[in-house]
Amino acid sequence: MTLALGCIADDYTGASDLANTLTRAGLRTVQTIGVPADDLALPEVDAVVVSLKSRSIEAGLAVSRSRAAEAWLSGRGASHVLFKICSTFDSTDAGNIGPVMDALRADCGEAIVLVTPAFPETGRTVYQGNLFVGAVPLNESPLKDHPLNPMHDSNLVRVLARQSRTQIGLVDLATVTRGADDVRARLAELADKGIGAAIIDAVFDRDLETIGLVAAEHRLSVGASGIGLGLARALVSTGKVRSRTAGGEASAGVGGAAACLAGSCSQATLQQIANAERVMPVLHLDPEQIVSGPGEAQRALAWAQPRLADGPVLIASSATPEAVAAVQARHGRDAAGHAIEQAMADIAAGLVQAGVRRLIVAGGETSGAVVDRLRIPGFLVGVEIAPGVPVLRAVGAGAGDMLLALKSGNFGGAEFFSDALALMR
Ligand code: ADP
Repeated sequence: MTLALGCIADDYTGASDLANTLTRAGLRTVQTIGVPADDLALPEVDAVVVSLKSRSIEAGLAVSRSRAAEAWLSGRGASHVLFKICSTFDSTDAGNIGPVMDALRADCGEAIVLVTPAFPETGRTVYQGNLFVGAVPLNESPLKDHPLNPMHDSNLVRVLARQSRTQIGLVDLATVTRGADDVRARLAELADKGIGAAIIDAVFDRDLETIGLVAAEHRLSVGASGIGLGLARALVSTGKVRSRTAGGEASAGVGGAAACLAGSCSQATLQQIANAERVMPVLHLDPEQIVSGPGEAQRALAWAQPRLADGPVLIASSATPEAVAAVQARHGRDAAGHAIEQAMADIAAGLVQAGVRRLIVAGGETSGAVVDRLRIPGFLVGVEIAPGVPVLRAVGAGAGDMLLALKSGNFGGAEFFSDALALMR
């Protein structure tokens, strides 16, 4: 198998967003959790997105993990690698975008790298090298107060130059608007001057398509899901990939029992649980009991097992903001959160052992804990249940064929659990 597109994402949710975007654009896409083992058996796919957690770690570590991901993707024949960053360019002067880009550029032997975090459909645009978040420049947006990566400069040519060993150029919107040939000529001009990377302006989706066409002729690019969309459309329009119905095959039924787990305490999830009560048995866990020992997870499994044959069940730790605050005050926020996540992971493992093959998890951190515990190395991305929440088909999981839906707290409509079950057969 030869991959048309390899991607390295610097965080898990960014990776999911990119994998979903590529799928909707017609690419069969697998998202992996970390750099996969060499012997991971992949289905026939067009793109692989390797999810790392490298956005805010020490730069040297981000470089070594990203290089390992690049080596894995190149080993699978990826002719282009996209280093996926946040659409708000989250980074500091120490990295990690510049150092990772420099290392991947050296490994790929690329003369000049195209860089743009633009994603117009989410309000991220780049003009004259300046990143806008909605109507305001990056340094006037809420990102100026980000706890890990405060962004005080909207000019990405300057931002990236402070992080990178190479000089940074600009391909402006006027050039992009004139088309792919003008972009190619401008990149050649910059490369001749020894400039190793260029920020490219993009304000509309059509700009991303022009950028995607040119980027696909290079070995490496850097950007958010927007450039991923441009690359996917270019791969389809040039016939390098045969477009498929978004995620169809990935969502094919697996049978087996179904269960839902909710660890998110968001308003949306609380409403979704309330609505699920009308159509399935729901067990509300006692957070105090969870924090004090493994008994509560065992009680949940004993409750679920006899019910699984009759239809889906839902187990929730979710509680109102007042109840959450009380638990946090007694045990500390992190300790309580961690204990509850681990209990949900224990319950997930027990449910799979009891025959569950369709599992829906509400909560970002909760999903992470569950996927880690089930040791699922990757997912083939299927149809969307709600915007940004696709059905996922486990790849290389010990339990065999399995469908999952993993949603962050605020995602999905009021009937999310029923909506997910309707698409997960
Ligand atoms: P979201 O996507 O809504 O942020 P997460 O799963 O990422 O959901 O985060 C929810 C956090 O709250 C997790 O750490 C979870 O363990 C914790 N949690 C869940 N239920 C409770 C509860 N009843 N009391 C306190 N913390 C809870």
